[in-house]
Amino acid sequence: MGFLHLEEVGKDYQPNGPASVTTVLNNINLIITESEFVAVMGPSGSGKSTLLSVLGAMNRPSQGRVIIDDIDIYSLPEERQADFRREYIGFVFQQHHLLGFLTALENVALPLAVARISQQEKRQRALEALRRVGLVEKSGRLPAQLSGGEQGRVAVARALVNEPPLLLADEPTGNLDSHTGDEVMALFTNLNRQGQTIIMVTHNGDNARLAHRIIRMRDGEIEPESSSGVTQVTSVGDMNHRC
Ligand code: ADP
Ligand code: MG
Repeated sequence: MGFLHLEEVGKDYQPNGPASVTTVLNNINLIITESEFVAVMGPSGSGKSTLLSVLGAMNRPSQGRVIIDDIDIYSLPEERQADFRREYIGFVFQQHHLLGFLTALENVALPLAVARISQQEKRQRALEALRRVGLVEKSGRLPAQLSGGEQGRVAVARALVNEPPLLLADEPTGNLDSHTGDEVMALFTNLNRQGQTIIMVTHNGDNARLAHRIIRMRDGEIEPESSSGVTQVTSVGDMNHRC
């Protein structure tokens, strides 16, 4: 049973009115199971970021349904969509967007600002998220006092602080040198081994191969998975016929 279903999802934009329609996502069908680690690859402009935003409850599709944990997310009222996003989705961007005047701990605690829990509880949760990325001992540092890889890990901790079932990452290593990128990827692999479901857009083939599955996009569509050169048997009947 899939944890996340996209059913015939489409997204159109009409930047210059209804006369010119740009189709950015076209009839996307996708099932992702719990604890899966999926990489999304494809040329620039193929719709990867749009796909992530649609399945992160941030961008309503023009057609189709997005179902996560049996919830048809865009059928929820707007306010409930925001609650859903907070509860279910952690997002890591290419630019890490850490606030320079806040410590690592304070940055990680930001998504808890509206949570109805005590300051003490917020601090505990932020420390727990920093523990998961191996940075508890640096919780009092400002971003400028951390390496690039450590800053990336703080951004991941911030995405995890609400313990979201789904972690979405849009080119999380795009701005990092290869050593620093490897540090962030090791963290993702480790989180996934602990059961974290991850969907990650990447241009880096080595990083994509760390995932269980690679989805390739082109012109707003998901390319059929390649059969890796093995002759495909189209149906059982076909197979019997051959035997
Ligand atoms: P990728 O992440 O694969 O580079 P995107 O999902 O960012 O691709 O964009 C796919 C296409 O959708 C691009 O051609 C982009 O210009 C277009 N697009 C994205 N967002 C908007 C928008 N808000 N309005 C109009 N066109 C958009
Ligand atoms: Mg993109």
